[in-house]
Amino acid sequence: MRPAILFPLFAEIRTLSGVGPKLEKLIAKVAGPRLVDLIFDLPVGVVDRSYRPRIAEAAPGRIATLEVGVLEHFPPRVKSQPYKVRVSDDSAMMDLVFFRADAKYLNDVLPTGSRRFISGRIESFKDRLQMAHPDYVVQDAGQMPLHEPIYALTEGLAARSLAKAIRGALDKVPDMPEWQDEAFVRREAFAPFHEALLSSHAPRHDADLAPEGAYRRRLAYDELLANQLALLLIRRQLRGPAGRAVTGDGQLRARAISALPFALTDGQLGALAEIEADMASPTRMLRLLQGDVGSGKTIVALLALLTAVEAGLQGALMAPTELLVRQHCASLEPYAKAAGIRLAALTGREKGVGREATLKALAAGEIDILIGTHALFEDDVTFRDLGLAVIDEQHRFGVHQRMRLQSKSKAPDVLVMTATPIPRTLALTAFGDMDVSRIMGRPPGRKPVATRVMNANRLDDLIAHLKRALSEGQRAYWVCPLVEESEVIDLAAASERAVMLGKALGGKAGLVHGQMKAAERDAAMAAFKSGETSLLVATTVIEVGVDVPEATIMVVEHAERFGLAQLHQLRGRVGRGSGKSSCMLVYHGGLTLAAKARLATMRDSDDGFLIAEMDLKLRGPGEVLGKRQSGMEEFRLADLAVHGDLLLTAHDDAKLVLARDPELKSDRGDALRVLLYLFGRDEAVRYLRTG
Ligand code: ADP
Ligand code: MG
Repeated sequence: MRPAILFPLFAEIRTLSGVGPKLEKLIAKVAGPRLVDLIFDLPVGVVDRSYRPRIAEAAPGRIATLEVGVLEHFPPRVKSQPYKVRVSDDSAMMDLVFFRADAKYLNDVLPTGSRRFISGRIESFKDRLQMAHPDYVVQDAGQMPLHEPIYALTEGLAARSLAKAIRGALDKVPDMPEWQDEAFVRREAFAPFHEALLSSHAPRHDADLAPEGAYRRRLAYDELLANQLALLLIRRQLRGPAGRAVTGDGQLRARAISALPFALTDGQLGALAEIEADMASPTRMLRLLQGDVGSGKTIVALLALLTAVEAGLQGALMAPTELLVRQHCASLEPYAKAAGIRLAALTGREKGVGREATLKALAAGEIDILIGTHALFEDDVTFRDLGLAVIDEQHRFGVHQRMRLQSKSKAPDVLVMTATPIPRTLALTAFGDMDVSRIMGRPPGRKPVATRVMNANRLDDLIAHLKRALSEGQRAYWVCPLVEESEVIDLAAASERAVMLGKALGGKAGLVHGQMKAAERDAAMAAFKSGETSLLVATTVIEVGVDVPEATIMVVEHAERFGLAQLHQLRGRVGRGSGKSSCMLVYHGGLTLAAKARLATMRDSDDGFLIAEMDLKLRGPGEVLGKRQSGMEEFRLADLAVHGDLLLTAHDDAKLVLARDPELKSDRGDALRVLLYLFGRDEAVRYLRTG
């Protein structure tokens, strides 16, 4: 249960005085429905009224506070003109300008002959200074704030109403116990939470808005610690008591390895050793396997699956698309054969008697490794005893699906493989519930893919180049993005492109897209793989995982519309064999700054981890992972591009806390429960044994 001390903050916004249903709706739109959402809605700007020039020296464009005498009122002669009030100090005169003014009101607040303090933006108009609709007109300078926070607004929401509501919410913030480690707070010179919060809402200069500022850092750290603590608690729950030690005798693995046409890299061996050690431990494995495109994750997965089979259990390998399932089956089959185990596929395409037979064999334990799509989740799919589930290309699956798979059997170990390297900071927030293994480096002999960025107006040159390359026996991908609202239009564009290129290149161009019948798609892929067609036009279905080592050229049209991670994935489709490969990033029309930066990054780097860091900087974490897909919520106070160091600290801190005080029973533990509730981590608190 939420501690009573937090009740006021979890009240709804309408409980604030002056907030009715209409205002509540608008405020909820920008901040959220409760007071706690308001206090975490930090200012995005600041109005500084401390500039106090004389009229003659006032700089146009600046916000100024002036002390003036009121000289004369000039009501408009025609309605469309503004009402003017002339004022002066001992240096000069200027006009205050009011459109659609209420004369009586203006005479009340600015009576002729009075002295007033006015504040607003100075404008110049026909060689004269003026101020339109001053923000403040007061008798005493103390009656206006010198500094005002600016908050993000939505249409129909007045700045002052929102600011007032936020002040109201801040007044309700209770005194809470310090949840951070005292020594740490001292070392970082962090202010207490309450002070950091109030100060963050009271900026005086633009510099005070910077996320690097001490107050904002403190708040960011609070949010990050809550996040990490919650993830660790969830992980502890998932790992639970149900794990078991899975070890094999190494025989199947040895047979598969001897069938490999290559030696495993040190990176692969290192990752495999970590995975096997984790499987052998009695707690349940929840591990993320990261490796750059082409680093050879699939074979590592197979060897881990074989470990489970050696232990008398079954394995599952799940991939996001039918295409990938077929590819995995085809590429793993020879090794499975060498090891003498049985592989089967299960996708939406397996139907009727065939499917029945597979399910029966699976339940009887006659299938050792099942490779499939989402179809693996269906209720009638039962394993005899699932020991390890491997999920390929994680970002296509949500956290919830992951959970669902885990509920399938007693307690399979879970290995998730990411298609895209994720910066460590992101991995910690989105997958903080998992351990991480990385495959460093790529198989030897891979040459970097020469990457060029080019304007679409040079498409003719590109096609001529392609023609030469294909006639020399090379194979190429040509990617058309999904861009229109309608998939039908897109597919039409892609097919048109395929026809056009087929003609221009004097051969047949294959075509694959997501809407195609599976059999047609397989046929197109097979024709490309065998070299029957040397050009494959594709929508982004080939983005993840497709492996045709003979392909050496990748053309991406409308490259400006792709994210960095996607481009890196696409480029990763070539450079897999021994041939020299190239990637042409073709853009159409003018480039935005961000698009320019993305394409330049692609041209200059082929390090997936570096590209991922850049992606995070350019787009922010929500976009990088896909908010819905990752199950990760955006942070409100922390900015991972800036506070990455704090996240790492929070991760270690959370671990330490739970090692010392597993059920959060100490004084600090109590305070940390408040922190968890404050940031809405109720679910995690429920996993604590005592409440
Ligand atoms: P990814 O990590 O992107 O999923 P894959 O597992 O698809 O990469 O492997 C990419 C290619 O590299 C495949 O053709 C695979 O057979 C090959 N490969 C994997 N490991 C090695 C290795 N140690 N040496 C040479 N080639 C390898
Ligand atoms: Mg892969």
